[in-house]
Amino acid sequence: MLDRPTTQQAWQERAKALTIESRAFIDGAYVPALSGETFDRISPIDGTLLAKIANCGPADIDRAVAAARKAFEDGRWRHLAPVEKKKILLKFAALIRENIDEIALLESLDVGKVIGNALAVDVPNCADCIQYYAELADKLYDEVAPTGPMDQAVIRHEPLGVVAAIVPWNYPLIIAAWKIGPALVAGNSVILKPAEQSSLASLVLARLAKEAGIPDGVFNVVTGLGTSAGKPLGLHMDVDMVTFTGSTEVGKLMLRYSGESNMKRVSLECGGKSPQVVMADANLQSAAEGIAWGIFYNQGETCHAGSRVLVHRSVQKELVAKIADVAKVQIPIGYSLNPASQMGALIEQQHMERVLGYIDIGESEGAVVASGGHRVLQETGGFYVEPTILDECKNSMRVAQEEIFGPVVVVVPFDTEEEAIRLANDTIYGLGAAVWTSNMNAAHRLSSGIKAGTVWVNTFDRSNLATPFGGFKQSGFGRDRSVHAVEKYMDSKVIWTAYN
Ligand code: NAD
Repeated sequence: MLDRPTTQQAWQERAKALTIESRAFIDGAYVPALSGETFDRISPIDGTLLAKIANCGPADIDRAVAAARKAFEDGRWRHLAPVEKKKILLKFAALIRENIDEIALLESLDVGKVIGNALAVDVPNCADCIQYYAELADKLYDEVAPTGPMDQAVIRHEPLGVVAAIVPWNYPLIIAAWKIGPALVAGNSVILKPAEQSSLASLVLARLAKEAGIPDGVFNVVTGLGTSAGKPLGLHMDVDMVTFTGSTEVGKLMLRYSGESNMKRVSLECGGKSPQVVMADANLQSAAEGIAWGIFYNQGETCHAGSRVLVHRSVQKELVAKIADVAKVQIPIGYSLNPASQMGALIEQQHMERVLGYIDIGESEGAVVASGGHRVLQETGGFYVEPTILDECKNSMRVAQEEIFGPVVVVVPFDTEEEAIRLANDTIYGLGAAVWTSNMNAAHRLSSGIKAGTVWVNTFDRSNLATPFGGFKQSGFGRDRSVHAVEKYMDSKVIWTAYN
């Protein structure tokens, strides 16, 4: 194994030597799209062409679904002894760890995240998640219902069949693993459809899954644009479930596709505009650190990013100054392959322009730019925007209601606890929230009153695989992570036997 590079230059050299796979992975082999079509992937870190990716269309989706269906029906995976499934999935996790440098580098080049985080968070979390579900393989039981002595009613938990996992670009590996792990351990065949901005690491996962022993057809990766590859998956008559993470807008399309086709199951993890509620008695330094990391980590491209600060008016000025200071000192923005960078490039030029556009919209609505606000590192050719604080906002403003999905936090003052709860819930979303206070009674009232899938108290974004993750309201329904996630990839069947 090569030594891990320690400098930006060494990572750049390693990048030049990479062999990039850009074809889809169907039935155990890399294949181009049947049409021969590709689309360009431009690296957000420097604006150069990274790969020409297979643009799968309906014919490729038919091919992937047929392979997945055949593998499911002949039982090559679902009928494998649980302990064998466990061994294979554990090997899959181990191979992800062995190939960490290659995968992290691809992830950084493809989606712009800083190499340090790809190495410390994205790849290890992906491997840990596969391992978590691998370990469940031989611990899943069926049930026997209470009946009279002359009957036996067994409730069997059976896999659904063909599961399509349609995922976004912000945490391509972690979110894919949240779906692949439980869907595979339940015995399903899986078709992973990465976002068109983030195909490369998923294609490595396909190679490693095969190397680990996952049989052909059981794990497929179809690359392509949302409309060419995602839509036919959503509408396919032989897909049993779509497990989706992405925007609320496209999540709603998944529900329509299901209704227009075979009523396939749909699980949705969608957008967010998570409030960070800071009471007057909060430890402001801790709150500022939680808020700054909670919005600027991964360039703000996080579904549950704490993008809306609701702060008691008496501490607003002090808090804003502290958030700006934490961002400056602890979260330096820099070239994504520089190991010292903590914030990297936004996913693509169009998205960067959208984020900058929101800063303009905020100012025109009356917000005050307290820090940041500009594109930086233009000389790299990449798409970098500095950490930005929009102060003096009202919750009704577009910048406080719409998901910006970049390093932009809005600050809205309040005067009473009741007002804080009302503002926190004044959003279509309900993914995450945090409450910062030294009064535990207030913490209890606020965390009970705020509608969100996770409410953190005096911290932000602490989590592990054992806790379910997902949203209320238009942040979606269905939960990823934890043992409960396996249930959504299974159906229950009653087998009732009478003894005469
Ligand atoms: P997106 O909705 O644009 O795309 C998500 C996936 O859907 C991609 O694979 C895309 O190709 C596909 N898609 C797009 N249009 C489609 C169509 N018409 N038919 C079928 N498939 C289609 O989202 P994105 O821009 O990739 O990701 C950002 C969004 O994801 C944000 O809104 C973010 O909040 C959300 N997100 C949510 C969570 C969560 O767990 N709740 C986690 C991460 C990201």
